[in-house]
Amino acid sequence: MSELDTNAAPKYENVDLRVGGERIPPGSRRRIEIPVARLFTGTWLSLPVWIVNGSQPGPSLFLDAAIHGDELNGMEIILRVLDRLRTDRLKGAVIAVPVVNVFGFVQKDRYLPDRRDLNRSFPGSTRGSTAARLAYLFMTEIVARCQYGIDFHTGSHDRSNLPQIRARLSDPETRRIAEAFAAPMIYEAKEIKGSLRGAARKRGVHTLVYEAGGPQRFDSDVIDTGVEGTLRVLHELGMIGSAPEPGASSFEAGKTRWLRAARSGILYLEAELGQRVKKDQLLGQVAPLFTGRRSQIHAPFSGLVIGATMTPLVHQGDALVHLARRA
Ligand SMILES: [Zn+2]
Repeated sequence: MSELDTNAAPKYENVDLRVGGERIPPGSRRRIEIPVARLFTGTWLSLPVWIVNGSQPGPSLFLDAAIHGDELNGMEIILRVLDRLRTDRLKGAVIAVPVVNVFGFVQKDRYLPDRRDLNRSFPGSTRGSTAARLAYLFMTEIVARCQYGIDFHTGSHDRSNLPQIRARLSDPETRRIAEAFAAPMIYEAKEIKGSLRGAARKRGVHTLVYEAGGPQRFDSDVIDTGVEGTLRVLHELGMIGSAPEPGASSFEAGKTRWLRAARSGILYLEAELGQRVKKDQLLGQVAPLFTGRRSQIHAPFSGLVIGATMTPLVHQGDALVHLARRA
């Protein structure tokens, strides 16, 4: 655990928070619903927001998950972190949105009903698509009130990720909280255009993305790692008094590469998430369904397995194993 350096942090004041038109005074906890859109049934769809405003001054941190509506690990991480926070002990505020893409969430779907990707729609606008409006609401109601943030994701489709932090490590303050999180892997990742992380950075909000596990399920190890890492960030920011000690130090990745299927067939994966592999090591094989030669997947360089497909049925060109080289 790095040493707590409150002298370097800006001075904060004890203030009422205003979210969704409601006032949340210091030392209080509220759950509010911000209306997002009326469905064609006439029912209002709303964004559930938890606000824990500590009794003492400190920074504000947002936590959000399910920007992709089928990514559930982050939701559980946030709910467990909220359980651990006490208003009388917290310095600063946590503004938490366990499910951002409420449209996708109810459909168990990654996207918005019009197939837009919410994480390509930031910072959004008041007159754009449903995705753009939801992004704008999130920026103005949540991100604008914070100095720090953690955005939780999982692998998409059939893929699962080793728990990892993606962030602008070249920014010292962002690196400080990324290292405090102490995920198994961290790496410098430029923001994707339209992503929440990119829009938050433009507002000067230091934001981490935690990518871990796969969609449509709870991965218990990944959830534990996420809860502990988030508590360590809160501790690093001086918001809570103690946090779990980290295990091994993070693997800092440089270049990463997805290894793809040379042919279609059944995948026999030998590599596991989190495994250290040597150059030329056999990572798996793809066997044709009926006859023919197996194709082998070898590591093009020594590194760490940080992502993998979870399905044994693959087409030529499908991404199979995500390998990271040490920075
Ligand atoms: Zn995602």
